[in-house]
Amino acid sequence: MKLKIGFIGLGIMGKPMSKNLLKAGYDLVVLDRNALVTEEYEGLGAIIVQTPKEVAEVADVIITMLPNSPQVEEVVLGENGLIEGAGSGKVLIDMSSIAPLVSREVALKLAQKGMEMLDAPVSGGEPKAIDGTLAVMVGGSKEIFDQYYDVMKAMAGSVVYVGEIGAGNIAKLANQTIVAINIAAVSEALVLAQKSGVNPELVYQAIRGGLAGSTVLDAKAPLMMDRKFDPGFRINLHMKDLNNVLETSHEVGVPLPLTASVLEMMQALKVDGFDSEDHSSLVKYYEKLANVEVGR
Ligand code: NAD
Repeated sequence: MKLKIGFIGLGIMGKPMSKNLLKAGYDLVVLDRNALVTEEYEGLGAIIVQTPKEVAEVADVIITMLPNSPQVEEVVLGENGLIEGAGSGKVLIDMSSIAPLVSREVALKLAQKGMEMLDAPVSGGEPKAIDGTLAVMVGGSKEIFDQYYDVMKAMAGSVVYVGEIGAGNIAKLANQTIVAINIAAVSEALVLAQKSGVNPELVYQAIRGGLAGSTVLDAKAPLMMDRKFDPGFRINLHMKDLNNVLETSHEVGVPLPLTASVLEMMQALKVDGFDSEDHSSLVKYYEKLANVEVGR
C-alpha cells in the first residue's frame, strides 16, 4: 500500500517540497491556514483537509514546514492539533527550523501518544526546494530515520543523521550562523570594492575561484549587485533563527560575538522596513554606513 503523507505549511519552501513528494508518487494530504494556497492542490490529486487533527487521522506520516516554534506547538499540541489525531505507529517529521528545546518537548508529548518524531530542518532555500536538492539534517531515533529516509530523500540532495531529537535543529542553527556571518562578509567586501571605485562584478569574478569563494558568495553577490531583494529567505525568518541560536548558545554557555552583531544589523534593517526582504539585503546596512550603493 502506498504511504500517505500529510503536509502542513505550504509556503515558500513547503509548496515545492510537497510537490516533489507528489512527483515521487506518494499520496498527499495537505493543510495550510491560507486557503488560497491549498486551492492549487485541487487539480493535483491531493486531499485537502481543514485541521491538523484530520491530517494525523488520515496520514501515515506527517511533515510540517512552518515558520517557527510557536506555530509548530500550535499545530501539534493546540486545539484540533496533530496530537488529537495521533495514533501509535504514526510519525511526525518536523522540517521547520525551530528551537531545539521545543523539538524535544513536542517529541516527548507525542511519545506519550505512541507517536514518533524526527526534527529535520533543511538548508538550500527555495531554488533547492524546487530542484529537490535540499540538505536535510535529522535528529531523532535512528530506526525511524532509516525507515523514512526515502521520503526525505524525495525532497533532498543529502539527508544526514546527526543524533537524538533536537540535534537536527542544533545543526540548522550552526548552518544559520555560518550563512548570516558570510552574507555580512560578502556585503562588507562588495561595499569596499564599490566605494574604492572598482567594479564589484569584476571583483566577484576575480575572487570566486579562490579561498574567498563560497556557496553564499555565488548565491548572494549577484542578487546584491542586481538589486534583487525579493525573498528567498526573509530577514525576519533569519532573525528568528539567530534569536534561537543565541538562546541556545547562552543556555549551554557559548559566547557568539559575530552572530550577535549580525542580528543587530538585521534589527537595524527591520527598523528601516526591510525585514520582509531577502537576507541578501544585509548589504543595505553597509551601504547606508558608507553612503554608497553596490551595482554591476
Ligand atoms: P513561509 O512563511 O513562506 O511559509 C510558512 C507557511 O506556513 C505559510 O504558508 C503559512 O500560511 C503556513 N502556516 C503558518 N502557521 C500555520 C498554522 N498554524 N497552520 C497551518 N499553516 C500555517 O515560510 P518558509 O520560507 O516556507 O519557511 C518555512 C520554514 O523553513 C521556516 O522555519 C524557515 O526558517 C525554514 N527555511 C526557509 C528557507 C527559505 O529560504 N525560505 C530555507 C531553509 C529553511
